[in-house]
Amino acid sequence: MADCIFCKIAKKEIPSDIVYEDKYTLGFLDIKPVSLGHTLVIPKTHAETLDKLNENTLGSLIAAVQKISKAINKISEGYNVIQNNKEVAGQVVHHAHFHIVPRKSGDGIHWERPNPKFSEKQLREIVDKIKQNLTN
Ligand code: 5GP
Ligand code: ZN
Repeated sequence: MADCIFCKIAKKEIPSDIVYEDKYTLGFLDIKPVSLGHTLVIPKTHAETLDKLNENTLGSLIAAVQKISKAINKISEGYNVIQNNKEVAGQVVHHAHFHIVPRKSGDGIHWERPNPKFSEKQLREIVDKIKQNLTN
């Protein structure tokens, strides 16, 4: 997509610190890292969110995420893999991507996790709704 920053990075029209590349996927450092080595992994073709990726692209992408995660695991104490879809979920760049965030003890990174309570009825209803909306 012409005005997409990650498409431009994929085409090397904008420079980035590339840590991994194959035919379908690019891994590069986040410009505003949460920790040293914070890496973004993108498909080279444009798709806005995870659910829009075709199976082959997603397969290559997740394989690259694991490959880079293995490297990061060797040089950190742990790591988070994060993937935001749509603005309400914190997506700022509308080209699907995974974040890999290297972690070490005392790094001060904290993901807020609210813990609302739901009724048995609500739980049964949401299970049904998700199952009814599963498609290939
Ligand atoms: P999101 O919130 O969409 O999941 O994350 C987008 C990420 O892309 C942010 O962490 C942001 O720092 C990163 N980012 C935005 N523009 C650029 C850029 O031009 N180059 C690089 N390397 N990262 C970028
Ligand atoms: Zn794009």
